[in-house]
Amino acid sequence: MIVLVINAGSSSLKFQLYQMKDESVLAKGRVERIGMESAIVTIEPTGKPEVREVREILEHTTAIRKVLDMIVHPEHGVLKSVSEIDAVGHRVVHGGESFSSSVLVTEEVKREIKRLFDLAPLHNPAHMLGIHAVEANMPEVPQAVVFDTAFHQTMPPVSYLYPIPMVLYKKHKIRRYGFHGTSHAYVSEQAAKFLGRPLEELKLVTCHIGNGASCTAVDGGKSIDTSMGMTPLEGLMMGTRSGDIDPAIVPFTMAKEDLTLSEVNSMLNKHSGLLAISNIGSDMREIAEAMEAGDRNAALAFEMYEYRLRKYIGSYAAAMNGLDAIVFTAGVGENSALLRAAVCRGLSFLGIEFDEEANARRSPDDRAITKPGSRVQVLVIPTNEELVIARDTYGLILNRNDVE
Ligand code: ADP
Repeated sequence: MIVLVINAGSSSLKFQLYQMKDESVLAKGRVERIGMESAIVTIEPTGKPEVREVREILEHTTAIRKVLDMIVHPEHGVLKSVSEIDAVGHRVVHGGESFSSSVLVTEEVKREIKRLFDLAPLHNPAHMLGIHAVEANMPEVPQAVVFDTAFHQTMPPVSYLYPIPMVLYKKHKIRRYGFHGTSHAYVSEQAAKFLGRPLEELKLVTCHIGNGASCTAVDGGKSIDTSMGMTPLEGLMMGTRSGDIDPAIVPFTMAKEDLTLSEVNSMLNKHSGLLAISNIGSDMREIAEAMEAGDRNAALAFEMYEYRLRKYIGSYAAAMNGLDAIVFTAGVGENSALLRAAVCRGLSFLGIEFDEEANARRSPDDRAITKPGSRVQVLVIPTNEELVIARDTYGLILNRNDVE
């Protein structure tokens, strides 16, 4: 079975094409600058050189048509015909309280995703464009949706409710949802395999540290708390997001600086975090280079970032009354030995016996960066959200075929 995985944003779209027999990637690529005359389409067919084209792409239906054209292109394509694609799986950021697992797309599912636009105004509408664009190009092909929030639906009310008037939860569903769920779920399973222990027995803190960052307390394979909240703004300090701040800062700043709601929102989401403190950038590589060169603001930004992450890990160990392993994943988590070392040094009281050499080694494989016998293990596990989407889509199609 061949599954096309799509992550549609408002002006970009990423894709990966999987052969599910051996879970191999046949091709991957992206369309950038959708809506522009000079949109860029890139395909990386496995084993062949990357191909790039610049052309007018004004909306998602044309973007998907172009992707399909490239997939079946006589030279750089990887399939003979679009009809070889059996199913399409989409990443959808917000599933609210309606979805605790992946589902096949139906009219009702589409209506529900639309009802959730309010909760994820930047993401869900773009995913919907992706779903419609696939429908327009491949009307017969079944589609599945995989939600970033679904894994966190196991959180109990004690962690998902905010201590504000209950009526706000009842009327507007204001609560913690959490994000990056696909990644937290995947690395938890991989961690159990790596440790050779059943996931049901493990207490893990999974740290997905990319541009956006969140950590999750995974107890017995279930998310029991996570740092992102009703939106991805809460929790850890991120590249450009503030993470946790005193909520009273919002009205205070609005009054003092004469800011509108949308301006303060943009300040906290786009002009805060590493960027705001370092005054250099939001990318951990830039911060590390500047620190190396002696830049004090960069050093402060790094220390704050690390300190806030370490506090969350400690609080989740307390939330679970124990900890077997910490898992680092995503762009920063997988690549920044500097950050992992700083976090682990500050958590030695938990019984972490850090292995500096293993931490410094670069490898695409799952690995431990603690010494054998360390009471708490620390693992680096590359995430693979696209593979989870492909697997879930494949599973749903097999199930449906069984039922029919
Ligand atoms: P996203 O959250 O957009 O999916 P990623 O998980 O790919 O992002 O993470 C991207 C971030 O990873 C970059 O902004 C950069 O800060 C960080 N990163 C990538 N490579 C390295 C590296 N070698 N060292 C430190 N940080 C890195």
